[in-house]
Amino acid sequence: MTGPGRPKAPWYLEGIRFECRRCHACCRARGEYVFVYIEDAEVAPIAKALGISPQRFLEEFCTTHEGERVLRFETELCPLHDGEGCRAHPFKPVQCRTWPFWPENLESRRAWEEKVASFCPGAGKGRLWSFAEIVAQAREMAESSGETWNP
Ligand code: SF4
Ligand code: SF4
Repeated sequence: MTGPGRPKAPWYLEGIRFECRRCHACCRARGEYVFVYIEDAEVAPIAKALGISPQRFLEEFCTTHEGERVLRFETELCPLHDGEGCRAHPFKPVQCRTWPFWPENLESRRAWEEKVASFCPGAGKGRLWSFAEIVAQAREMAESSGETWNP
């Protein structure tokens, strides 16, 4: 029961079904959103996965946006995508590992529909992610940018 002073239960309390269908739509630029952020700790593992030095990875694949390190998109497809899949796998950047359970996508059912289900064919399909799993993913995403998050 909800009411004044009683917080509304998160809409995903019973979990969310999601299973990646490997369509790679989330590895493509969507409108103005083309940013894949790379944390300091992610540089060396990703470079290793690519078989190049960290310095070369920074020079060839990265640029900055508003002071943050991001991948440099030269086409609409992520530069770490080889047409088959992510070349950084299993060391994908945190935002890719935690997708689609980002805090902003969980704000409301409507946000989920607009920001995820509208283009991700894995949304609402396959495995049921529990509330605890979803919260853990969203927290990891928030903490990667120094923020705290609670459902
Ligand atoms: S858009 Fe969804 S189904 Fe397609 S690759 Fe991304 S997570 Fe997987
Ligand atoms: S880093 Fe990998 S998973 Fe993330 S957008 Fe690029 S290709 Fe996709």
